[in-house]
Amino acid sequence: MEDNVKQSRRQLLKMGSIALVAAPMVGFNTSAFAHQNTAVRAALKFQNTPNGDKECAKCMNFLPNKNKPHDKGHVHGCKLYPGDDEICPTCYCNGFVAKPK
Ligand code: SF4
Repeated sequence: MEDNVKQSRRQLLKMGSIALVAAPMVGFNTSAFAHQNTAVRAALKFQNTPNGDKECAKCMNFLPNKNKPHDKGHVHGCKLYPGDDEICPTCYCNGFVAKPK
C-alpha cells in the first residue's frame, strides 16, 4: 500500500514537472517570434522609405546593430519599437527626431 502511495506521488511530481516545462510553450505561435512590432508601426505610420532627407539612420531613436552598424539590411532596431529588429536605415516614421549635426 505504501509503495503505491510513493509511486503515485512520484508520478504526480513527474507530471507536475512536465507541466511546468510545457506551460510556457502553450500559446506559442509564429507571431511570438515576429521581428516587427506591428502595433507601434501602425501607430507611428512606419514606412520602408525615407521621408525626404529624414530616415532612421539620421534619427536619435535608431539602434544600429552593433555587429553590423553600416549594414543596409533589415537588422537594426529603434528605441520606440520594442522587439522589432527589422528597422532599416532608410526607413522612416512619425517618431523621427533628427540627430544633432
Ligand atoms: S523613431 Fe522612426 S524614424 Fe526614428 S529610428 Fe525609429 S523608426 Fe526610424
